[in-house]
Amino acid sequence: ETFADLGLAEWAVNTCRELGMRKPRRVQRRCIPRVLEGRHVLGIDETGSGKTAAFALPILHRLAEHPFGVFALVVTPTRELAFQLAEQFRALGSAVHLRIAVVVGGMDMLKQTKELAARPHLVIATPGRIHALLHGNPDIPPVFSRTKFLVLDEADRVLDVCFQEELRFLFQCLPENRQNLFFSATTTTNLQKLRERYQDKMYVYEA
Ligand code: AMP
Repeated sequence: ETFADLGLAEWAVNTCRELGMRKPRRVQRRCIPRVLEGRHVLGIDETGSGKTAAFALPILHRLAEHPFGVFALVVTPTRELAFQLAEQFRALGSAVHLRIAVVVGGMDMLKQTKELAARPHLVIATPGRIHALLHGNPDIPPVFSRTKFLVLDEADRVLDVCFQEELRFLFQCLPENRQNLFFSATTTTNLQKLRERYQDKMYVYEA
């Protein structure tokens, strides 16, 4: 199976080739078609298995079709991971005009507020900071009113560092009809609870 067989656009297939990704990894083969179908997905596989491209490629594919408003909110546990994710999205989306805002702790909140108000295509955030921004300024939640994808990257760790109320508030700020993509290296109790909440409404890939 090739990246083209998974239903990805030609530009995405070409970018993969340019990046030296010749064949889709297992997590990518199983999850990319489900994301393109519009399903919620939980993908559990070890670190380094290729999970990032498993959600980034189908999101970029959809984004290129219809770039409108903040398209995806990606939440990840640490600043370092947020910057790494932004880099991967930039590489995989090099053929697409992409505006990405990275909103993490320890950086100017006023600047981040302005960046969000300009409605970037992708917001990559740590949970504490995105919650503070959504909570602290009534102009920010409407920015996310048409968001198509919520990604919890390293979902097990996000759920560990994120307070329940913070997460609930975050979920509430996004439209009901969004697609949820959860990716994780391990299964934890918190992740299990999330899984139970979505039940058969979510495709689960477990390596
Ligand atoms: P990840 O698990 O998403 O952190 O990815 C681990 C590494 O594998 C990254 O450096 C990716 O660039 C690389 N990678 C992901 N998918 C593929 C693929 N299909 N072929 C070759 N390398 C890949």
